[in-house]
Amino acid sequence: MEKKAELYRGKAKTVYATDDPEKLIIFFRNDTSAFDGLKIQQFNNKGMINNKFNYFIMKKLEAAGVPTQVEGLLSDTELLVKKLEMVPVECVVRNYTAGSICKRLPVKEGQKLETPTFEFFLKDDALHDPMVNDSHIISFGWGTQEDIDQMKALSLKINDVLKKLFDDAGLILVDFKLEFGKFHGQLLLGDEFSPDGCRLWDKKTMKKLDKDRFRQNLGGVMEAYEEVAHRIGVPL
Ligand code: ADP
Ligand code: UDP
Repeated sequence: MEKKAELYRGKAKTVYATDDPEKLIIFFRNDTSAFDGLKIQQFNNKGMINNKFNYFIMKKLEAAGVPTQVEGLLSDTELLVKKLEMVPVECVVRNYTAGSICKRLPVKEGQKLETPTFEFFLKDDALHDPMVNDSHIISFGWGTQEDIDQMKALSLKINDVLKKLFDDAGLILVDFKLEFGKFHGQLLLGDEFSPDGCRLWDKKTMKKLDKDRFRQNLGGVMEAYEEVAHRIGVPL
């Protein structure tokens, strides 16, 4: 399958049409962005690592019964996917406090939560992805109650699967972001799961091994992504 027209250039990936109107090619670029696109940098091999990382995780999730967009890995940096009608919200699950929740609530980074939290954010960089609730999603027609129930249930199931996968590799899955979309009426996991969209800390040292290394200028960004990939067994 070959890339045809460029349909969308996001902050880290470019989406192309294919000969099949129901399939897209996602090209993982080397761009890394933070703070809604304000901070941007390129890293060698980043597209390849995230593409292979994402494919590995999505296959694990499928094996656990989570329906995903994945059709197949086309190359080091290209993934063939089902073309989804994306629900324009981000689903965030947290096991520990970090990032935006520490700005919204009187909590410090690193607090283990009694049970995982689930939050929706509207995908809108200009408005800095504001938090929204079930009522907003239904009232503005972004999704139905059934979509909401499924996004929550799938996100929490994904948390159970991935918490264990990372824990077995000596890593804490602190939080992560997912995006879902519809394909012939079925809700599927879309977009990507990689160290760009989650937080991972080493269990023993609490060293950050995710995009916070870029956000916080900690250095060794790609080394951290490679280490995590290596520890969970992603073939790079
Ligand atoms: P952003 O839009 O946040 O800058 P990316 O650079 O990751 O993000 O671009 C990828 C875009 O493709 C996102 O807008 C995402 O919602 C969309 N997308 C991801 N998977 C699919 C899919 N299977 N079908 C259609 N669109 C998708
Ligand atoms: N996240 C993401 N894209 C976004 C916002 C958040 O991938 O546009 C991820 C982020 O990497 C983290 C989780 O979602 O793993 C929770 O992010 P948070 O709400 O703490 O926002 P942040 O402070 O990271 O922007």
